[in-house]
Amino acid sequence: MEDLPRIKSILTQPQNVVILSHRNPDGDAIGSSLGWLHYLIQKGHKVHIIFPSEYPINFSWMPLADEIIIYDLRPERAKELLAVASLICCLDFNALDRIDKMGELVRNSTATKLMIDHHIDPEPFVDLMISDPQSSATSELILDMIIAMGDEKYIHAGLAECLYTGILTDTGSFAHAVSPSILRKAARLLELGVDNEKLQIYLFRSLPEKHLRLLGFSLYHRMELMPDLQSGLIYLSKEDYAKFTIIRGDTEGIVNYLLMLKDVQIAALITDQNGIIKFSFRSKGDISVQALARENFNGGGHLNASGGYQHTSLKDAIEKFKRVLPKYAPQPILTNILN
Ligand code: 5GP
Ligand code: MN
Repeated sequence: MEDLPRIKSILTQPQNVVILSHRNPDGDAIGSSLGWLHYLIQKGHKVHIIFPSEYPINFSWMPLADEIIIYDLRPERAKELLAVASLICCLDFNALDRIDKMGELVRNSTATKLMIDHHIDPEPFVDLMISDPQSSATSELILDMIIAMGDEKYIHAGLAECLYTGILTDTGSFAHAVSPSILRKAARLLELGVDNEKLQIYLFRSLPEKHLRLLGFSLYHRMELMPDLQSGLIYLSKEDYAKFTIIRGDTEGIVNYLLMLKDVQIAALITDQNGIIKFSFRSKGDISVQALARENFNGGGHLNASGGYQHTSLKDAIEKFKRVLPKYAPQPILTNILN
């Protein structure tokens, strides 16, 4: 947090702030962005949030989520706001290709640029950086920053629920990246007014029917296991997208089911989204899907949760995944060698 004093000093003057987060925004992208917005508004700044693409409907209850501008839907408004911004905050991403067309606008902007993020290997496109891959979520970093600036009093219940949502979703409901300190911080957020019961219902028990049907279909018809490499994949084709009218967010969480299997160490969800093939990777223990994503699929993320993309057919994408997999997967156990 060595840049914190400079950030604090910049925030003593009223700023025209734009908060950006990554395409296909998840709970942490939305939670950290809205948490930071609620804080900055109270400190007297003008603030807008812009996302490249839409967020899943189960986050629409979050306070001021309806004011988020989606570049895909309103590119002119987004460009206008970026053009007059004095401070651009890049939250929960660390590479400009994660914000699609806005990447170039940010690169060329003369505004002060601040990154707040917890992914490995940040790109140096900003003036100020709060980057900590040890953090369980960007929302945790926002909480740390607000408290470190002596401003805990600004954390009202709505703001606390935004940050709690980011922590809850990025840790898989406290299943990974868990430490004593994150549990203490979660406890503090509860004290500050988070209604955990309400959030559980909004976030995890409000699915539309098609979600479960798609999950069942994916597991029954689209799952392939590679036992030799302790790996598995699920793919969804363009036709599947049409059949289930899949929109962004509907496939969230599917990849995690593969890791429920005892003998799966690497899991992939490979989807054909209108010409772009999107990869979602998960792993257990020390196995790095970050390296797999970065070295082969234009991507990155975390050790155990990463993603990437390429512009090929679905068939080529699946073949490439299978071709590169042996380099990252546990090595096949050679039986019979002693017989
Ligand atoms: P998910 O599989 O849930 O979409 O993403 C898992 C993790 O991988 C997230 O932390 C996300 O930031 C990262 N990730 C997903 N897609 C990409 C990508 O295209 N590029 C990079 N650099 N990271 C990605
Ligand atoms: Mn995150």
